[in-house]
Amino acid sequence: MTSIFFKKQQRSAYNLPRDEPCWTYDQPPDSLLRQQPLPLPSCSELELMRHFSGLAQKNIGIDTHAYFLGSCTMKLNPRINEWAASLPAFLESHPLAPEELVQGNLRIMGELIEFLASLTGMAGGSLLPNAGAQGEFAGIKMIRAFHRSKGDLERTQVLVPDSAHGTNPATAHLAGFEVVPIRSDGEGEMDLEELQAHLSPKTAALMLTNPSTLGLFSRRIEQIADLVHRAGGRLYYDGANLNAIMEIVRPGHMGFDVMHINLHKTFSTPHGGGGPGSGPVLCSHELLPFLPLPRVVRKAEGWKLLWDTPDSIGQLASFHGNFAIVVRGYLYARLHGKSGLRRVSEMAVVHANYLKTKLQTLFKAPFSRFCMHEFILQMDRFAHHSIGAWDLAKRLLDYGFHAPTVHFPLIVPEAFLIEPTETEAKPRLDAFVEALRTIAIEAEEEPERVKTAPHSLSVGRLDEVCAARYPHLQDVW
Ligand SMILES: *Cc1c(COP(=O)(O)O)cnc(C)c1O
Repeated sequence: MTSIFFKKQQRSAYNLPRDEPCWTYDQPPDSLLRQQPLPLPSCSELELMRHFSGLAQKNIGIDTHAYFLGSCTMKLNPRINEWAASLPAFLESHPLAPEELVQGNLRIMGELIEFLASLTGMAGGSLLPNAGAQGEFAGIKMIRAFHRSKGDLERTQVLVPDSAHGTNPATAHLAGFEVVPIRSDGEGEMDLEELQAHLSPKTAALMLTNPSTLGLFSRRIEQIADLVHRAGGRLYYDGANLNAIMEIVRPGHMGFDVMHINLHKTFSTPHGGGGPGSGPVLCSHELLPFLPLPRVVRKAEGWKLLWDTPDSIGQLASFHGNFAIVVRGYLYARLHGKSGLRRVSEMAVVHANYLKTKLQTLFKAPFSRFCMHEFILQMDRFAHHSIGAWDLAKRLLDYGFHAPTVHFPLIVPEAFLIEPTETEAKPRLDAFVEALRTIAIEAEEEPERVKTAPHSLSVGRLDEVCAARYPHLQDVW
């Protein structure tokens, strides 16, 4: 599609009053004024609408396609959440409004923290982090502040399993720690001997997620927590994906001390394209003093913002984080209630196991155990035609499915990580199986067709690394 900047209709999509000054303050000096007019698009409002509607139709998203993107939980974004988040009372409330005027907003924040804490077996938390990765950063900083408050300055290492999401080692590194990778064994579990070998008075924390990114629940979790605690370390739980465990098991009960949740995954708020997110951080009693500022607390006279906690890691986000995302997450929690969230998790796990059972007759499932909300397939069956996960994922686009997560986690070659979520219905799951069955036949009979996919979209195969590293957005400036 032609860039909007090249539409030269000599028309305008807006209309400003002419010859009337728009402001009453002084004109900026000439030296600061632009000498040449900006090369803005010149097209009518109608053409502008068509341009953006056309772009939206080219997109592949959860509203148009099944989107089994493992570790990302692309579930329905309920429209009632959008309605609530756009109520003028929320939209127009000022972030600096006095507490007594925004009791409703504070109550939403405070009650959501209480709800998330009880869902996860934690003592309290903060909604300030604007992403899962920022929640991790907050949590690891809190663990660091905790050790320092005890005068323990020697704990310089964070242990991270090799199956971890990339944000885990990145977080530990950014927070000033040395990252120590821990190998997984053939069952996809953390290797306990390797863990023991790396635990020492230098251990600040272990970052872990359970179920792991392989979609497997670790049965050794209590043993792992015990080992780390005995070495004086703390356990960080990557709770980006709670979709398998809500009201079934709580990270606090597994022995974790700090964690984050992605409201923009499990709690159904929209994501993709880089934002806006919300990654609340939650923690046990001993870590409460280190939570970011300000804290939302319930007092006899109403909800308050607490600023005077001297041990806090400080302010993380401007104002109150992504409040509109918090409103959506709050409504999702209230509408489901705890029993509804348990049902969400049960359905998510049933759907994943249904798909896995069907697909493992076509492709290799490296772990035979019952899976949680997602599972791994090893897509190397057509290696003799030089067809891998990437090619099969691209071909799925032609069959009307967003590609699953590919090549992650890194420890399984040619991985597909598939997460169907509870909000898809069985016919859609069956259609996905049939699409992959057809693609498997094509891969054998017409390998070139698969290797050059997609064929039905407005763009073919992109150089995605180049597109991410050297974005060429517009050269008219
Ligand atoms: C998505 C995800 C994250 C990071 O969350 P962002 O909001 O993208 O920063 C961390 N860990 C896991 C396991 C994830 O799936």
